[in-house]
Amino acid sequence: MKVIVIGGGVAGLGAAYELVKRGHEVALYEASTEFGGQVRTFEIGGGRIEIFYHHLFQSDDEAIRIIRELGLEDDLTWIDSNVGLHGGGKNYPFVGALDLLKFSRVSLLSRLRLGLTALWLRRISDYQRYEGTRAAEWIRAKVGKEGYDRVWGPLLRAKFSEHAEDVSMVWFWGKIYLRFASRPKTGLPVIGGLLAKEQLGYLEGSFGRLIDGLVDACRAKGAHMEAGAPVQRVLIEDGRAVGVCLPDGREDRADVVLATTPSGLFQKIVPDLPEMGPEGAQYASMLGEVQYQWATVMVLTLDRPLSDIYWLTMTDDDAPFVVAVEQTNFLPPSTYGGNHVLYLSDYMSPGDPMVDMSADELFDLYEPWIKKINPDFDRSWVRDKWVFRDRAGQPVVRMGYHQIIPPHRSPVPGLYLANTTQIYPEDRGQNYSLRMGRRVADLVESDFALG
Ligand SMILES: Cc1cc2nc3c(=O)[nH]c(=O)nc-3n(C[C@H](O)[C@H](O)[C@H](O)COP(=O)(O)OP(=O)(O)OC[C@H]3O[C@@H](n4cnc5c(N)ncnc54)[C@H](O)[C@@H]3O)c2cc1C
Repeated sequence: MKVIVIGGGVAGLGAAYELVKRGHEVALYEASTEFGGQVRTFEIGGGRIEIFYHHLFQSDDEAIRIIRELGLEDDLTWIDSNVGLHGGGKNYPFVGALDLLKFSRVSLLSRLRLGLTALWLRRISDYQRYEGTRAAEWIRAKVGKEGYDRVWGPLLRAKFSEHAEDVSMVWFWGKIYLRFASRPKTGLPVIGGLLAKEQLGYLEGSFGRLIDGLVDACRAKGAHMEAGAPVQRVLIEDGRAVGVCLPDGREDRADVVLATTPSGLFQKIVPDLPEMGPEGAQYASMLGEVQYQWATVMVLTLDRPLSDIYWLTMTDDDAPFVVAVEQTNFLPPSTYGGNHVLYLSDYMSPGDPMVDMSADELFDLYEPWIKKINPDFDRSWVRDKWVFRDRAGQPVVRMGYHQIIPPHRSPVPGLYLANTTQIYPEDRGQNYSLRMGRRVADLVESDFALG
């Protein structure tokens, strides 16, 4: 079987890797000049770093397995996480149960409710019970209005903008449930999950090494891996996908075409889908139903640290970014030539004016809030700044989401889709994109065997 994979992000590379391991012929085309998609890297001070902050959780079994298979296991390090909340002008370190008790931004009763609801969710594995529930409603009922208004509500709004009230409880469950799975077992019943220190995984030299490892492993098995090759269109003959059209009038033909692009880009390369009978029209409408938030991430290099927290979540409703990730509170500044590296991340709806702002305009907006994290901050500390964006940064997981997920098997025989909108009940993540790549490889293989 020959498979053409469109997209060289984690999902496409994961699928290609799985297919070549099973002896199939693979050609992978990536639009950008570099492989990696949302895990692309660039250089700071001679060190390689992701355009968007990345780490792994201990529950990320598939990613850990592939890292091991690629011989990179010795370079996967587990680092005690160091997270905090910022609200009302104050930073609150937030690592264990005792920090929760010190979180004076809400009443003692709300602190207890925040902790107890997290413990409760950590014990629930049948997420289906939450499919008919909205996160905002559940949180208000169980954590209370204060806990919602001061902690979870601003986070939902920062991530999902106008969709915040409609976000599915399954999404919220996943965030809490999987987060606890990244804590080592303490042996203590019930409260142990809160007391245990969370550990986060990072690959020495960046996750770009995982991307390189996958590309190299595919090439070693004979796959054609081409970056800088945006697929213009999926070739469909007699109602079946038979290949792709590439720039400069080139064509490549295969038995199967597997696209791993965001849904909107998939519609562009299969423009006739809505006219392909009722199934095509239905699939096209499903693709359009899932909405994405833009991810916008500013990266700053500083000449000194901003705070001592790695992951600082902003809980004020008017904060212009939702999280400040100080990479050099995770890895030493020497990794990046002595620079202190800070990511400031936000999510926005299409049409939000911030989507079009330049790095300097965004920085002007962010500066007063950087000062709230550390009142001594001065713009003279900034050595350099970059802004990276992704139109398909975060699928909006609304209530009833499971009913609108497009299947991997498209209505066009021989054409498949695997992207972040199909990761469920978990949220996007390298681990799940890799797992999806393997599952789609299974599906493609079994369909092909059946003819
Ligand atoms: C801000 C942010 C932070 C994140 N943090 C973490 C984290 O801490 N840990 C973690 O595990 N995950 C994290 N993730 C999620 C993780 O990066 C994604 O789940 C994963 O990278 C998605 O991979 P993908 O292959 O599905 O999609 P993508 O990475 O989007 O890949 C799709 C690829 O298709 C290509 N493409 C599009 N159109 C065409 C075309 N016509 N022809 C050829 N190629 C095309 C694109 O260029 C792209 O490379 C984060 C994501 C974001 C946005």
